[in-house]
Amino acid sequence: MDRAWTWEHEVPPRWLLADEYSGDLNVLSLPMALCAEIDGLFVDPEPPAAETYTLLGCDPAGSLRETLRHIGTDRAWLPRVILDPLHDPHQPPPADCHRYDRGCSCAVELMDVQVIGHRPSIFGAGLVDIDLRGHSLILPEQHWPPAQPLEGTTGFLLSDHDDQDLGRCHSTAGVFRERRPPPLHPVTLIGCQPETPLRPLLAHPSPHRRRLQVALYAVDQTGLAVPTGQALFATMTDSRASRLSEGLLDITVDGGIDEPFPVGAREIWQMWHRGRPTQPNLWAAYDRVLRHEWAGAALRHHRQERPDLPSGYTFHLDGRFVTDIEGFYCAVGEAVNGPGGYFGWNLDALADCVQGEWGAAAPFHLVWHHAEVARRHLVSGYDRPTYDQRRWGPATTLHDLLDILADGGSTVDLR
Ligand SMILES: [Zn+2]
Repeated sequence: MDRAWTWEHEVPPRWLLADEYSGDLNVLSLPMALCAEIDGLFVDPEPPAAETYTLLGCDPAGSLRETLRHIGTDRAWLPRVILDPLHDPHQPPPADCHRYDRGCSCAVELMDVQVIGHRPSIFGAGLVDIDLRGHSLILPEQHWPPAQPLEGTTGFLLSDHDDQDLGRCHSTAGVFRERRPPPLHPVTLIGCQPETPLRPLLAHPSPHRRRLQVALYAVDQTGLAVPTGQALFATMTDSRASRLSEGLLDITVDGGIDEPFPVGAREIWQMWHRGRPTQPNLWAAYDRVLRHEWAGAALRHHRQERPDLPSGYTFHLDGRFVTDIEGFYCAVGEAVNGPGGYFGWNLDALADCVQGEWGAAAPFHLVWHHAEVARRHLVSGYDRPTYDQRRWGPATTLHDLLDILADGGSTVDLR
C-alpha cells in the first residue's frame, strides 16, 4: 500500500489498521490508525483436547466393523468418521440444510478417531454401542458445531473421508455438546496514532460507532505496508495517553483477532520489518508451526509484479532441512524466489504456483539437492498440524509433491 500518512515519533510504526470493509468501493483501503505494537496479536493457541463419544445402537460396516476386532491396538483407528443425520422424511428439512450427493451440510466430522470399546446395545439385537476418542472438526467461519442434534434426526449414516460406508447408528453421546468457544484474547493497540477518520470515533458514546472493522498491515522500516492476512473486528473500549511517545495513545478493544499468530512468529515479522531476508534457510531452526508462519509471511511479502524467470530455467532446491512439509514450502519458495521467497504454502497453492506467474514460468527444471532428507521424512501416515485442524488427514508425501510439481510439465531431478 502506498504511504499516505506521516509519523513523527522515535518508535517506528509497525502495524497499520486499514478499513477495507465499510463499503466505499472508491477507497479500497482507508488508513484508520498506525501503531507501534499490538498486544494480543501473538498468542499461543491451546492445543485441542481429545473428546470421547459413543455411537449408540450402531450397526457398524467396513473399516469401523474391522476396528472392533483390534481394540487396544494401533489398528483400532480411523482417520475420519462422518456422521450424516437422517432427517425425518415427514418433516421439511432444516432451514440451513444443503443436500450433497451423499449426505447434507448438517454432517458432523470426527477426526483422528481411536475406537476404545464396544458392547451390546439396548437399541436392538445385534446392535452395539461403540466408544470413540477423537476430535470434532470445528470450522468457526462456517458454523460452530451444534450442541444438540437437529430436531427430527432419526439416526446417522456413518462414512469415512473416502466416502466408504461405515454403517449407521441410532443416536450418539458426546458428539453434540456445549463447546466452549476459544477464549477472547484482549487486544491493545500500543503507541497508536489514529488517522483522521478514526479520531472522532474514539470516545463516541455509541459502541456501534466505536466498532473497528479493519485489516492489519505490517509496516516495514521504509514505510511499506503489506497485508498480514489478519483482521480486527472489535469495539474500542478505552484509550489513554501512551507511555511510548507523547501524542500517541494506547487503545483497548474487546478482543477481535480470531486466530492470532503464535508467539514465535513475532520474530519472523520483526525480521521482515527490518527488511527482506538476504540469507537462505533462516527458517531451518524453526518447528513446523513457525515454518508455516514463515511461509505465510513470505506469501504476504511476495512481489507479484516481478516477472517470472523464463520457462526452461533450472532452480536448485536445498533439501537439507526438508524434514516436514512446511520445510518443503520454505525451501521451494527460496529455490524459486530467493531468500524469504514464496512458492506455495499448501498443496492447492503449490498446484497454482507451478502453473506460472509466481516466479517461475512453466515448465521449469528443479534440481532437489539432499532429497534423501525428504525421502526419509515426507512419508505416508496421518498428519495433525497444530495450526490448522482442517489439514488433519493423510500426510503429504514426497510422491504427492513430485506429482504436483510435474503437473505443469516441469521436471524434478532428485539428488
Ligand atoms: Zn441436513
